Amino acid sequence: MASNKNRDIEQITQLIVADPGLPRPNPTSSYWQNPPHTLSKIQSPTLQRETNHAIIGSGITGLSIAKTLLNSHPTTKITILEARTLCSGATGRNGGQMAANMGEEYSHLVQHLGSEMAGKIAKFTLKNLDCMKELIEEFDTGDICEVQELRKLRVFLNGEKFEAFRGSIALMEGDHPELKGFYKILDGDTVLKKYGIHGAVGGALLPAGTVWPYRLVTKVFEDLLKKFPDRLTIETNTPVINVEHDPTCTTPAAYTIHTSRGSLRAENVFYATNGYTGHLLPRLRGRIHPFKGTMTVQDSNGSVPNQGKDVSWGFHYTPTYDSVTGKSGYGLYYLGQSVKTGYFYFGGENARVDETVSADDSFVGEDSVAHLRKGLPRFFGKDNSSSWKLVSSWSGIMGFSSDGLPLVGRVPSSLSGRSGQGEWIAAAFNGYGMANCLLSGEAIALMALGKKVDWLPGAYGLDEERLKSVLTERESVQALTAKL
Ligand SMILES: Cc1cc2nc3c(=O)[nH]c(=O)nc-3n(C[C@H](O)[C@H](O)[C@H](O)COP(=O)(O)OP(=O)(O)OC[C@H]3O[C@@H](n4cnc5c(N)ncnc54)[C@H](O)[C@@H]3O)c2cc1C
Repeated sequence: MASNKNRDIEQITQLIVADPGLPRPNPTSSYWQNPPHTLSKIQSPTLQRETNHAIIGSGITGLSIAKTLLNSHPTTKITILEARTLCSGATGRNGGQMAANMGEEYSHLVQHLGSEMAGKIAKFTLKNLDCMKELIEEFDTGDICEVQELRKLRVFLNGEKFEAFRGSIALMEGDHPELKGFYKILDGDTVLKKYGIHGAVGGALLPAGTVWPYRLVTKVFEDLLKKFPDRLTIETNTPVINVEHDPTCTTPAAYTIHTSRGSLRAENVFYATNGYTGHLLPRLRGRIHPFKGTMTVQDSNGSVPNQGKDVSWGFHYTPTYDSVTGKSGYGLYYLGQSVKTGYFYFGGENARVDETVSADDSFVGEDSVAHLRKGLPRFFGKDNSSSWKLVSSWSGIMGFSSDGLPLVGRVPSSLSGRSGQGEWIAAAFNGYGMANCLLSGEAIALMALGKKVDWLPGAYGLDEERLKSVLTERESVQALTAKL
């Protein structure tokens, strides 16, 4: 089947450099976004002509940038430009899991970045999860986000993956004793007997949480608009088409942002555009790429006890590739359960590369949904799933980078193609936005205000060394074809 494999490698090479385009105007309907927030279509009668800071994207990263700018400066004005409705990207379509992935990533990070940087990244993600908690405590006083503090049970479905994980944890704990005890390793028998999960060779528990991210983000936007009515403007259904810089401009607002509703000038432009970023910054294509995820909500009809208060789950397996169908399994399923309804929120990918390296969330692959419907009951030992009901399914677009790390910082001229120094990016969270976005957004907002940020992992920055060595098209192709 070498020819099929070659076909798939060629397709990957083409797909990762393709223009992701603008967010599709007719996305699938996400369970989290129903009913829509009253501000979902917020828009001024006409687009203002000038602002201090233009933020492109209204997900959790755009929110964090806006909140930081508003709170850190007494007068500065902010305009958020959103292609679709408020929070209609990945943040409004994800798995709702607030969990760190530092344990499984640690040994890989050490190999490429050394133990000091790997430790810095691990602690950054933990701090970010603390910030999520603080944000929820401050803004969700009425429990609208159905937040649960719980433990995530990472379930390992084969020995190879489990041993690699244990090795990674041991290395992390040896290098950073202060992280000891964060993960509690379990054997397969305990995973079955205590948590009712079948097929595990082992597992690990870690402190984590679940949340309704769409409700959280829209609620914070609502409160920010009340607190800063003259300084914050949100323009939904306003796709940004391109950005220009005028080096001869004599006022600070040297950027012109062209949108479907006219143009706006700004001093700083923030790209909080995640998997779509390559459309506005073409030189990033291939270095970051969209990755389409599938989510389902499933009802077991009471056949499985409700553990939503105590645990969420991640199922890890060695990535697979079927050269006949061209389908790849990406090594992870993620699962949470609603305490209120008992519904399961279950996601994960097993699809052809043209279905996953895609920015098109206007449809959800039937095969992907069927795969998730078949897989979930089995984890609970139910081979007959006829009584399980599919409540909802949708797709969403993540941003992935060639080296697996987010891109956070000033956009260098070599990437923007413009001489101005007022373009900023926080994107490509590689499926772990809840553990990265808030502080990444805060970091670039503070940098744009000229404040010192010494807590952001240096490996997230866009220095020339990273751009030349690991943030490359070649590395993206390698990462995606490694398992073929
Ligand atoms: C199916 C799925 C499951 C996931 N599960 C989890 C999980 O359980 N836990 C976790 O931590 N992370 C998860 N993630 C990842 C997480 O949701 C993201 O990393 C995070 O939400 C990214 O937030 P963001 O604000 O950077 O991007 P987004 O929320 O994607 O926001 C980007 C916004 O930019 C807008 N935009 C883009 N281009 C333009 C343009 N040209 N003009 C105007 N607007 C534009 C988009 O419309 C969008 O609203 C998941 C993602 C998906 C898709």
